[in-house]
Amino acid sequence: MKILRDSHEMCAWVRETRRTGLSIGLVPTMGNLHEGHMSLVRLSCRAADATVVSLFVNPIQFGPGEDFSSYPRTFDADVEKCRAEGVDVLFAPEAGALYEPDHSTYVEESMLSDGFCGVFRPGHFRGVCTVVAKLFNLVQPDVAVFGEKDIQQLRVIERMVRDLSYPIRILSGPTVREPDGLALSSRNRYLSDGNRKQAARIFAALQQARRTYADGERDAEVLCRAAAAVLSVAPDLRTEYLVVVDDRTLITRKKADPPARLLLAARLGKTRLIDNLRLDVPG
Ligand code: AMP
Repeated sequence: MKILRDSHEMCAWVRETRRTGLSIGLVPTMGNLHEGHMSLVRLSCRAADATVVSLFVNPIQFGPGEDFSSYPRTFDADVEKCRAEGVDVLFAPEAGALYEPDHSTYVEESMLSDGFCGVFRPGHFRGVCTVVAKLFNLVQPDVAVFGEKDIQQLRVIERMVRDLSYPIRILSGPTVREPDGLALSSRNRYLSDGNRKQAARIFAALQQARRTYADGERDAEVLCRAAAAVLSVAPDLRTEYLVVVDDRTLITRKKADPPARLLLAARLGKTRLIDNLRLDVPG
């Protein structure tokens, strides 16, 4: 496995790999790799001849007061995980290798980015789109893999790829969870023991809504209330949004006709957690 630190090395590898006719898969990450990330790596390894994992804590997708400086950085462990999975290139640029001090060009998706996390994290998706566009330009992947855990991000990237005509196939992988249902996330390590227990209510709430849906309920408000009742058992959990959307367009629904997805964001102390579940797909 090659570990590449700058864009020129990355481009040279891409040129050489393309010359030999191999297809390229890309898995963009911010490191601190867990099973969720590695499940996407496996998808890429199956879909493409060579896989690049990018590892970059992207400063421009963090707002003021967010956790950019405290975000967990575990480079050596990440290297070992990628090596064990047969990754071809770990692209881990320094911040300065991707952004010049006077960087002033951004990519903005202006419809799907607006609601939900876009409200609570202004500028977040602009930062995500910009770094993903840069990675696409540098790595020129045939396929790129993203997690359904961050469903809004996935839909925004799919839209960006369509609207900007990137010749890239976007693949997505299901959310990998802890045994109690909490979605794996680098931010879970911020949780105190007490908050960690409460965090399990997030998935329990989503499941409760899905059960209510399976019983025939289609009124979005009733489905959200069923989830909220489960969340209310966790005294420190503050819901930011809890909403039924169309799975493809992310437009809010009053009636949960398929394909319907429930989106949830909540804070536990300073930790912000997001999760989502398809209501019309049994799991
Ligand atoms: P991050 O490093 O948090 O930016 O995530 C990198 C990629 O991993 C994104 O496409 C995420 O959606 C995906 N991801 C994060 N957590 C999970 C999870 N628990 N299961 C599956 N994919 C995940």
